[in-house]
Amino acid sequence: MEYNILGLSGGKDSSALAIFIKNQLPVIHKDIEYVFADTEHEIPETYDYLNKIEVFTGKKITRLKPYRSFDDVLLATNFLPSHAHRWCTGILKKQTFKNYIQSKVHNADKETKVNLYIGIRADERFRLDGAGQDKLITEKFPFIEHNIYRQDVENILVNEGIGYPDYYKWRKRSGCYFCFYQSCLDWIKLYENHPDLYQKAMEYEYTDCKKIKSGRMGFNMDYSLKDMIKPENIQKIKEKYQKLQEKNEHHSKIDIVHNLFNDFITEDDYSSQTIYKFA
Ligand code: SF4
Repeated sequence: MEYNILGLSGGKDSSALAIFIKNQLPVIHKDIEYVFADTEHEIPETYDYLNKIEVFTGKKITRLKPYRSFDDVLLATNFLPSHAHRWCTGILKKQTFKNYIQSKVHNADKETKVNLYIGIRADERFRLDGAGQDKLITEKFPFIEHNIYRQDVENILVNEGIGYPDYYKWRKRSGCYFCFYQSCLDWIKLYENHPDLYQKAMEYEYTDCKKIKSGRMGFNMDYSLKDMIKPENIQKIKEKYQKLQEKNEHHSKIDIVHNLFNDFITEDDYSSQTIYKFA
């Protein structure tokens, strides 16, 4: 038995890969399965875009719920995820995805194979560093094989008519609404576009955790979410990013490299595009 699986993130690269496979690799498209590991804290635009992908590819997406919920883990650890303790991706996304694949190959025989399709682009070859093969799992990188670069991904989505996810109007990536990777400006945009979700994120922050010395446990290093939306702070943050943007318009070659890197780390596809390996 051979399984073809593509882990969707709700971001542009994995979505473009689904469209690319449908148009260019029809044999694979016939039996590929699209899988989305839902953290249950995604922004609404991600769910809308997944619905669109289903329409454009004519395939139902398997939507996995985390094997342990965010709230459950938070209760057990008393720690919000952060750059230093990023437990969320491992538990909410990777392990859920891994469990799903393992359930498929539970009674695997010698003939069983899983091909995992990953939307790493030709300009991101450096991300292959962690790639590995497993006895059962073969990672496939069609964008690399077919020399698909960043601009090609945009063309695939635009030409197909599906376009970019709607959240691109105000932020660059999918993922949880409370993701600690987002910049202060992203937080302000979240507040402006989804005040209810900002409020929910705010409710997760707290100050009474004995394990912390800094006096609060929050998602952002600079501000508590409660303080961030004070009018004077919103203004300060917007001015800062405005200045940065103006500076970027005149940046040097060094800045270009730096910005590309920033683009990469703020990309949507942290989790389901993370190269998958069984331990
Ligand atoms: S989007 Fe951010 S908060 Fe959500 S699982 Fe990924 S790293 Fe964690």
